[in-house]
Amino acid sequence: MSDSSDYCKCDVCKGYEICTITQSTGPLSGIYTCFDEGHKFCKNCFPEFHKRITSADNIRRIVKEEKWAYQYYHDVDDIGSNIDDDPDEEVIGKGEEILQEYYAEVPSKECPMCQKKIVRDDEILEYLLKKLKTTRAKVIKEMRVHE
Ligand SMILES: [Zn+2]
Ligand SMILES: [Zn+2]
Repeated sequence: MSDSSDYCKCDVCKGYEICTITQSTGPLSGIYTCFDEGHKFCKNCFPEFHKRITSADNIRRIVKEEKWAYQYYHDVDDIGSNIDDDPDEEVIGKGEEILQEYYAEVPSKECPMCQKKIVRDDEILEYLLKKLKTTRAKVIKEMRVHE
């Protein structure tokens, strides 16, 4: 994590999004970080994920479920009896910032890479080597013999 440019690089397309400027991953940056495995992926590679995350319904859900998000939205220290207030259309304004906080890191169960929505070639290789009970070196040796 020493190089900030690496920090903002998508594992799938190797592209960069604006988190080189914001220095923080999340929906506003266009690059997400997986909390558990450290996967990095951009909104362009997982448009459906990004669309779901940034949907008004999802923002409403977070504001309703997360006390801090509710406080942030309403700009109050204490929720008191207002907790039942239903966040209206206005919520979308602060919603972007709330989302950025909420999805600074994505839990593994929500990470499209952990969920194998896209599988990298090196992961396929690793899987096949294990399945065939062989190693990279053995495969290379075998290929040389057969040439
Ligand atoms: Zn990407
Ligand atoms: Zn992941």
